[in-house]
Amino acid sequence: MTPIRRQTVFAGLDQPQAWPPTRGTARPSRLDGELDALPGVGVTIKRKLAKLGLATIRDVLEHAPFRYVEPGAIRDLFGETDEVAIDVTVKRVTKRRARKVTIVEAVVFDGTGQISAAWFNQPWVFDQLGEGTRVRLVGTLRRGAFAVRSHEVDPPPAGRVPIYPAGEEVAPKLLRRLVASALPLAANALDPLPAELRQRERLPLRRDALTALHQPHAEHDAETARQRLAFEELLLLQVGIARRAVERERTLAPSLGEAGELIERYRKALPFALTPYQEQAVRELDADLGRTVPMQRLLQGDVGSGKTVVALYALLRAVENGRQGALMAPTETLAEQHFLTVEPLCTALGVTCALLTSASKKRERDLAVHADVVVGTHALIQEGVELRDLAVAVVDEQHRFGVEQRKALTQGRAPHVLHMTATPIPRTLALTVYGDLAVSEIAKPPASRKPIVTRWITEDRASEAYTRLTALLAEGRQAYVVCPLVEASETSLARAAEEEAERLRRAELCDFRVGCLHGRLKADERRATMARFKARELDVLVATTVIEVGVDVPNATVMIVQEADRFGLAQLHQLRGRVGRGGEQSYCLLVSRGRDELSETAIKRLEALVATTDGFELAEVDLDLRGGGQLFGSRQSGLSDLRFAHIRDDRPLLERARDAARQLADAPGPLAAEVDALFGSVDLQA
Ligand code: ADP
Ligand code: MG
Repeated sequence: MTPIRRQTVFAGLDQPQAWPPTRGTARPSRLDGELDALPGVGVTIKRKLAKLGLATIRDVLEHAPFRYVEPGAIRDLFGETDEVAIDVTVKRVTKRRARKVTIVEAVVFDGTGQISAAWFNQPWVFDQLGEGTRVRLVGTLRRGAFAVRSHEVDPPPAGRVPIYPAGEEVAPKLLRRLVASALPLAANALDPLPAELRQRERLPLRRDALTALHQPHAEHDAETARQRLAFEELLLLQVGIARRAVERERTLAPSLGEAGELIERYRKALPFALTPYQEQAVRELDADLGRTVPMQRLLQGDVGSGKTVVALYALLRAVENGRQGALMAPTETLAEQHFLTVEPLCTALGVTCALLTSASKKRERDLAVHADVVVGTHALIQEGVELRDLAVAVVDEQHRFGVEQRKALTQGRAPHVLHMTATPIPRTLALTVYGDLAVSEIAKPPASRKPIVTRWITEDRASEAYTRLTALLAEGRQAYVVCPLVEASETSLARAAEEEAERLRRAELCDFRVGCLHGRLKADERRATMARFKARELDVLVATTVIEVGVDVPNATVMIVQEADRFGLAQLHQLRGRVGRGGEQSYCLLVSRGRDELSETAIKRLEALVATTDGFELAEVDLDLRGGGQLFGSRQSGLSDLRFAHIRDDRPLLERARDAARQLADAPGPLAAEVDALFGSVDLQA
């Protein structure tokens, strides 16, 4: 690794830090405290931050900018730019409404030139700016005007400007203030890496790394900081995995013997035969379930590959042994969706099946916990709902490496656990990251499936997409229309979806029944809409990305994605996976702005989607386009919990962390405390 220069912020490198010898003195740092411990953080700010997934002081400190820019000069802006920062003075400001948007426009200048800057749907910006206001703008140049994504009035003297991940409503100034008040706490917290290890690996102190992450002085500081934090993250993971393996060998799960009569009936009830990949997965499951060591298996397969069928198989194996199975999903919509798929099959087999959501009344819950198969969200099952006799748990799209769930599930009982994920990561990588999980893979979807025909159409020809859509609807097919991904609140997304549904009902789709699905609907409204769509009482579902994961209606064979250029590659692939689930030919129509308005990468993304439906291939493209950053689809997989490590590029770092983990697995101290906090404590002496 690159040596660290002394005069940088990493001066603490050579000062060994006290290393408490016993576990008793170590405690998870105060960084796990909630954000209102920081000055000036009230309910509103807390809620805004929570939307970004920032709940603790640590979350804020570890909220890494994804790149840094030096403020540029107006003179150097031309064509279409990536995100840049400019430090400018306001000359005049205006506010107007155009169609549905409020636009604040400011003419701004610096020493090199003058430009017009625009804010969309942020009317309050008008009141912040006046003639002579000094402001730092971060945004992109589009058709000669500067589209502002964030701004900061009276910025501190120019340094490197951290650019945080997109889609945020939190001002950079607020983030900077929070970081500034949180950093001293980081300085007081114990460093989980023993000084000796840090020196051997030439890694800076955590507090210095966190400082450099947000305020790098030199070009390389941020990367050095990232590597240090990634190392720690991978180390904690490896130590946790080692511990978990020990724990698991000491726990007993019920042996479920061999597949019996219920499974036989299940196979007969399915309208198709299992594919060879599904058969293989089922054989692997059966072998695990026959043992008394709790199963920890990862079932991997692209969207639509047929994982749910295998999951239900596992659940029914519990039921035929007189025990319970639970299916856990990350969101309510997904849980409801699973329920709609699984419940009819269960009922046909004489197996009771219940849905547990946060909307369930006490009486419903009391009944649900006695069902043979219980479907719910991770959260609910974590909240201590006591299942009568859980033997098999299926965890869909796990997050946090399933750690939270595992903690909850193993308290006093030891079910077999099957994790499902649609994230295409190569088997070898999965083994490294998930460690103790065995992996089953459904490498190909059912053969009867026709590849989805994907077309990319620009807005000016959008009517062709709707012509195709209405023709297919007239043949009895169903469709999704996905609304644009605007950088705004859930509420405005919901409103946009409602308005679009209303517009389509009056215009293109006036002959059809159009429903609307978004995150602001109450659980029972959402469920009712999904049920109606599934029952073909609706022809079209206008939706936000809430349909991204898990919605399964085989008769829905067309999807139109509006402003498709705004979505990420992984997200579009997930969305597209909602069609092509039956035997009929399916279509995905990506409508984008004009080609000349798109960035190079947006064009490449859309072209890749047209060229292939193979998730692994798209994962590669995505990695290339992002320059090897975040893993494809990691948001779904829980790999996003690796905040700093880049799974593909950090293999050497991973190896180093694994070696260190071998030596440190039983060591007491702050490291052990951090692992306890992440994985739950395990008494290794027992
Ligand atoms: P995943 O959960 O992996 O996204 P699903 O299990 O939801 O995929 O399956 C997608 C669709 O394929 C469902 O409509 C399901 O009924 C169907 N399906 C699953 N297995 C088969 C099979 N062996 N043959 C034909 N269709 C199948
Ligand atoms: Mg599924």
